[in-house]
Amino acid sequence: MNSAPISRLSWVLAGLGVGLGSAIIYGFPAQIIDIVYLFAACQVVVCLAISARYNKPDRVLWPALFILAIALVSAQVWDPLVDTTDQLQVAPESLYLLVQVTLAIGLLFIIRRRIGNDPISVLGDGLIAALGSWFLIWVLLLQPTLESSNASVAVTAIQGATLATSAIVLFSLATLLFGDASRTPSVWLIAGAITFTLVGDFLFAAHESGRVQIDEKFSTASYVLCLFLCSAAFVHPTISTITIHGPTRSARPLLGRLITTTAALTVPVVVLALSEPVDNNDRTVRAVSIFVLTIAVTARVIHAVRANAITQRALVVSAQTDALTGLPNRSLMLTHVHSALATAEFDGRHPSVLFIDVDRFKNINDSLGHQAGDDVLIAVSQRLENALPDRCIVGRISGDEFVILDPGTRGTSDAMLIADTILESFNEPLSLRQGDVFVSTSIGVATYKQHVSSTADDLLRHADTAMYRAKDAGRNCVAIFDESMLERVTQRLAIETSLYRALERRELRLVHQPIIDVDLGDVVGFEALMRWTREDGSIVSPAEFIPIAEETGTIVPIGAWALLEALTHLRGWINEGICSRDATMSVNVSPRQLHDPNFVPVVHEALLRSHIAPDQLWLEVTEGVMIAQPDQALDTLTRLCEYGVRVAIDDFGTGYSSLSLLQKFPIQRLKIDQSFIHGLADDLGARSLVRTIIAMGDSLGLDMVAEGVETAAQLRALVDLRCSKAQGYLISHPVAPSMMATTIASLEQFGGWSKTKGQNPNS
Ligand code: C2E
Ligand code: MG
Ligand code: MG
Repeated sequence: MNSAPISRLSWVLAGLGVGLGSAIIYGFPAQIIDIVYLFAACQVVVCLAISARYNKPDRVLWPALFILAIALVSAQVWDPLVDTTDQLQVAPESLYLLVQVTLAIGLLFIIRRRIGNDPISVLGDGLIAALGSWFLIWVLLLQPTLESSNASVAVTAIQGATLATSAIVLFSLATLLFGDASRTPSVWLIAGAITFTLVGDFLFAAHESGRVQIDEKFSTASYVLCLFLCSAAFVHPTISTITIHGPTRSARPLLGRLITTTAALTVPVVVLALSEPVDNNDRTVRAVSIFVLTIAVTARVIHAVRANAITQRALVVSAQTDALTGLPNRSLMLTHVHSALATAEFDGRHPSVLFIDVDRFKNINDSLGHQAGDDVLIAVSQRLENALPDRCIVGRISGDEFVILDPGTRGTSDAMLIADTILESFNEPLSLRQGDVFVSTSIGVATYKQHVSSTADDLLRHADTAMYRAKDAGRNCVAIFDESMLERVTQRLAIETSLYRALERRELRLVHQPIIDVDLGDVVGFEALMRWTREDGSIVSPAEFIPIAEETGTIVPIGAWALLEALTHLRGWINEGICSRDATMSVNVSPRQLHDPNFVPVVHEALLRSHIAPDQLWLEVTEGVMIAQPDQALDTLTRLCEYGVRVAIDDFGTGYSSLSLLQKFPIQRLKIDQSFIHGLADDLGARSLVRTIIAMGDSLGLDMVAEGVETAAQLRALVDLRCSKAQGYLISHPVAPSMMATTIASLEQFGGWSKTKGQNPNS
């Protein structure tokens, strides 16, 4: 059944309860009140049946509720039939007691399931509220009732027990509302029902005690409202989750708890001060109650103070610990380095900091997923801790960056031994849930040196700088910090700044390297390669400035310029008859450009302005493009391919691309990385690797280009392996556009590569 109508029924019942309660107070005659009362009790049974059918409340709770309802109805039927002094009055009173006891047990059961993260404090506050209420119940209701009651001793005792149980019910209600589980409509409706039954009990008891004259209709109205709220709570669909803790509330009911417990403590004390005990029994009950209350409050205060201290400690620890690995974080590592430096001066030690970065971690994250990335970081942290002597402290300061402090080194050579141990420890693969993974690390080392690396901050920064040097040196190695590295950092910063201006200052230019057809020997295309001559005449290699341009985003305008410039050069050569009309131009494209929404229009415009057909343009992307944010790259490349532009994978074999990615991406060419070509002539392993790559490319229908061909032997090997195209210093170095005519002329003059197969006409 849809939950909407049943939840509506629940609110109708609550409304009906309020209406009937008000009507009783404002003037129903006594006989009708009795009928209404009976009707209210009966409808609870019906609603329970509806709830059991549709809401399926907890299996333990449901029978308890049923006993509750049946006991209530029986008591209702019985009560008007007997006189208060009658011995038979024991029966309905016992049923009321049964109702109260079942209610208390049911509530305690719900609370046990719903109680939050700090059960002791919730139960403690509930207990204080209940003890305070008990004290008031005793002084204001129970004691006077016992004193003045003309009912039999048994009836008075049962009534007293019922009222005493109210304190437990109150305790349960308080803990239900004090807990940190979020309150559903059913919780609120039950809380309302219990509140009204307690109000009814107190009004009734106050009336019985003879202290105040309260018309019985008020307590009856409270009971009727309570019964309807009960039904509304049972019928509401959220009753099925009442015994589940559910989501934790963000705003905890701390203020409400504080007010209630303070009132529960102060009101009895005030009452105690203002009223005299009536007899010895009264005195004993008061003394015991206040004693227990004091103990509860003291225990609660002790618990609160201890909990606060634990929370404070946990906060400090979490502020200084990396949540993933449990290692010290940056701030704690700095503190450790700082204290190591403070004592180093006195005992002649030179503490060292090792900055460790996991190589190609981004690839692991992108290809295996973030969960695997996290597992790698945890495994790396464990490997480091196991590999190092106890005196060393390992910390994780961000992403894939770890820092090790060795406070006991006497110089750089000691630190180098530690670094070597670390490198060696990664010779074995990391065993993850996903399988074995090999990782390597790049390590930067900085050792305390007066006036150079003398503060904690310096040591960390210098080790970081050295680590970048280790990365530049090819990864999986160690670099030791020296002052010249700082100059490099400054230099890098200078490159970064002047790169912004390089384009408008016309400091960038393109050179081109011919690509030949291995069989025919003809130049079939060119690769455009960027060159940057700075203001002072120094030439910066693309390997140095392209990564910076990518990082800073300058590659987007620079790349757009290169595209138009390269195609314009090709148009010029075609027009001048330097190359064939269908020669192609390959332009390198970085991932950042593919993620630029303007890239496709930029390519269109360059082709239109240069009058070059789309199939004469090859875009060279690296394997990384298929791994990091592949969807966006795939979308851009697909749109360009639909337009006719072709895509080549550059430096193939150096990345982590999988065969499935190769199939998924619209690729028409593989460029075999020069590292494989170098060993081609004399290394059998390299040869069979290249053979496999070519066979795979052929089977996927891809055009194959060998990069970095430097010797005739390599070219001959490529002919044997049936690689269709090649480029490299053997054929031609990259040349300026103005030199292309003479370069191609000398290539042709020599008679083409098909005939010579491996002798450079230019050499
Ligand atoms: P790449 O695209 O793989 O380019 C081939 C690189 O190998 C070029 O280095 C080229 O000069 C060099 N090379 C060519 N033949 C030989 C050879 O026989 N032996 C050796 N050892 N090297 C050879 P270059 O010009 O320094 O470019 C380096 C890299 O910079 C390029 O690698 C490319 O990834 C990037 N790059 C260059 N120009 C651009 C550009 O306009 N845009 C982008 N995004 N990247 C570019
Ligand atoms: Mg390239
Ligand atoms: Mg390449």
